[in-house]
Amino acid sequence: MSSETNAPTATRTRPSFVLGLAEVKTVERVSPSFVRITFGGDELDEFGTPGDVFDVRIKLVFPPASGILPPVDRDDDDWWGAYLAVPEAERGSMRTYSVRDLRVGPDGTEIVVDFVLHLEPGLTGPASLWASTAAPGDAVLMAGPRRGRPDRGGIEYAPGDAAQVCLVGDETAAPAIARILEDAPRDLRGIAFIEVPQAADELAIDAPKGVEVHWLPRGDAAHGLRVIPTVLDYLGESTGDAIVVQDAEGEDMVWETPVYSGSGERINAADTATAERYFWIAGESGVVTTLRRHLVKGLGIDRAQVAFMGYWRRGVAMRG
Ligand SMILES: Cc1cc2nc3c(=O)[nH]c(=O)nc-3n(C[C@H](O)[C@H](O)[C@H](O)COP(=O)(O)OP(=O)(O)OC[C@H]3O[C@@H](n4cnc5c(N)ncnc54)[C@H](O)[C@@H]3O)c2cc1C
Repeated sequence: MSSETNAPTATRTRPSFVLGLAEVKTVERVSPSFVRITFGGDELDEFGTPGDVFDVRIKLVFPPASGILPPVDRDDDDWWGAYLAVPEAERGSMRTYSVRDLRVGPDGTEIVVDFVLHLEPGLTGPASLWASTAAPGDAVLMAGPRRGRPDRGGIEYAPGDAAQVCLVGDETAAPAIARILEDAPRDLRGIAFIEVPQAADELAIDAPKGVEVHWLPRGDAAHGLRVIPTVLDYLGESTGDAIVVQDAEGEDMVWETPVYSGSGERINAADTATAERYFWIAGESGVVTTLRRHLVKGLGIDRAQVAFMGYWRRGVAMRG
């Protein structure tokens, strides 16, 4: 038992992450590729701080074939240890998602998640399959930041004093970009590029007036081949050569922010405060890695100005 759990209840600091049962309230097919699911239930009342969500990540646990969610004591402060102790066959599948909306009202808390439906045979997974058939009354387990948490609780977006932001992503990053823009100060300036499967996947975002939002339907193009040249063109790099999307196979998912490097690279955090432009780039790992190469090696953009985040990897099932 940790010293934290031995502390007297009155003075004990509860962990900044909470696990709760999230019950499906409504399901809305908002576009060909997105299904919007609103979760509710008493156990969400400790979640998140409205207006301060940005790109916070949450973990969802989908039931295994039995349809029964893993038996985890959600009141246990060490719920993570309790979850890992459940035999693998009963544990279900854990995946990472963003919060499209967090609403707190007199009837409780609602958390809205926009799920991408990727249902092609061989290219789907438990989360997307679950979302494609979800109905009111279904439930998942949801882990996320506790309301009023003392830390950033999984928020990566950190533009500091940058005068402008440049947000780049694919459909899996669209919900986070939308939330960032809706939570940002109304005088934010910048640009967002969002590649989606088709034009009908362009969803409404209440962005600050000074931020241009460009949706890039990819149609028959390969993943990344709309957004990469568009971003490079915007930054003034010639794209005369054919773009080659880096195959992330054999590499870990890229995850590098102004304060953290998944590859262990040293970052000068002091630079972040003075950056003229802050970049936030998320999506398929090979596409993000390709953009990273062009921005850092080709254009010489300071690493300390950019968050590069692989949200998923082509051909690889995520694990939590
Ligand atoms: C911080 C963070 C926030 C995220 N936010 C969201 C979000 O708000 N909405 C959202 O939909 N996703 C989001 N994702 C991405 C999501 O976690 C992955 O897409 C995840 O792989 C989905 O799990 P799955 O069980 O459907 O597929 P998996 O079992 O993980 O993968 C099975 C197969 O599906 C392929 N695959 C996975 N995702 C896609 C895709 N989008 N398009 C095509 N093929 C795919 C994989 O390459 C693999 O071949 C986020 C990821 C991170 C890290």
